[in-house]
Amino acid sequence: MTTYLIQNAAVLGGEPTDLLLADGVVREMGPGLSADGAEVVDATGLVALPGLVDLHTHLREPGREDAETVETGTQAAAMGGFTAVHAMANTEPVADTAGVVEQVWRLGREAGFCDVYPVGAVTVGLQGERLAELGAMADSAARVRVFSDDGKCVSDAVLMRRALEYVKAFDGVVAQHAQEPRLTEGAQMNEGELSGRLGLTGWPAVAEEAIIARDCLLAAHVGSRLHVCHVSTAGSVEIVREAKRKGVDVTAEACPHHLILTDELAATYDPIYKVNPPLRTAADVEALRAGLADGTIDIVATDHAPHPHEDKDCEWAAAAFGMLGLETALSVVQATMVDPGLLDWAGVAERMSYAPARIGRVADHGRPLEVGAPANVVLYDPAARRTIDPTESASLSRNTPYRGMELPGRVVATFLRGRPTVLDGKLA
Ligand SMILES: [Zn+2]
Repeated sequence: MTTYLIQNAAVLGGEPTDLLLADGVVREMGPGLSADGAEVVDATGLVALPGLVDLHTHLREPGREDAETVETGTQAAAMGGFTAVHAMANTEPVADTAGVVEQVWRLGREAGFCDVYPVGAVTVGLQGERLAELGAMADSAARVRVFSDDGKCVSDAVLMRRALEYVKAFDGVVAQHAQEPRLTEGAQMNEGELSGRLGLTGWPAVAEEAIIARDCLLAAHVGSRLHVCHVSTAGSVEIVREAKRKGVDVTAEACPHHLILTDELAATYDPIYKVNPPLRTAADVEALRAGLADGTIDIVATDHAPHPHEDKDCEWAAAAFGMLGLETALSVVQATMVDPGLLDWAGVAERMSYAPARIGRVADHGRPLEVGAPANVVLYDPAARRTIDPTESASLSRNTPYRGMELPGRVVATFLRGRPTVLDGKLA
């Protein structure tokens, strides 16, 4: 196995140092290292971060291989600096049995770009009627610890309570897509003055906030871990902040697009901006950034949701919800959090690597870059600027809302257990 000597990398943005990656781990760290026969990577001017971990990725396989496969999705992940992704359960068939989660897990290993941790469905077929085989998925080779009906809300309070109780046995977590279904029937965009003007059915903030409040109370009642997916409103941030203050074991994520885009974009009627939960107001964006900065929102998760063009290039009402996110996440976080001074690179490592690994109970990722740690490393150039071109994406789909936008930063290299998956900004 090739050893790699990374020279002059600013680990977490600190003083430049060298890292020697050998046998899958960080073998040595410090200034002026040398190693015979090592491949040298010049990281002058680059920030080194621990490999990023995404708790919320849609890989689409099995069933929608026209949108994404485990292989292409994990290639996009590697291009974005990720070394581990959690693959959501809303595939066809749904990942609600040990067989399906093991299939996804195995496909990830075979592709080799990034470790894939399947998320198990909470209910059979995401139907919200009876619990899926949570224990069998936890005991499977995939060792599932995160369960979610994402795409749909576990809206039945009794089922949600049972799921929270059940996952305690193996230290699992229920990741809720917080969307009260009756309050969002036919919803197309954020409910507000603009939705009225555009004639699109609104998705009110209270539909998210009511479920988060209920679930925090349920989690407290049964003493279980709750994770809130893609928090999108200022009120939701406030509810999570209050629940944490009271000692509820709740964690929450924000998506890159909710940190940078607003509902004003719906006025274009371009379905590239159609996502669930919807883009919200500038005040919501500001509250999410503040919540991420002060730790109320624990992590950034991409909600990478690839769709083939026929599902997106149609009129707004008929288009699918969702947008790509893996390859642009770090750039959006730099633009919205790092450059304005809300987070430093250590804060980025916490929210995009350590904390998501902790929530997903993943031991081999999300570890600080130190001697002996698994050699999962990203080298990132924060001084780079790039104009986003969807045709350059490693994803099979092209539905990025950032097309034509200039974003800061570029992933130069990604190492998974000491082996490059990306080198010189290209798949290795
Ligand atoms: Zn969702």
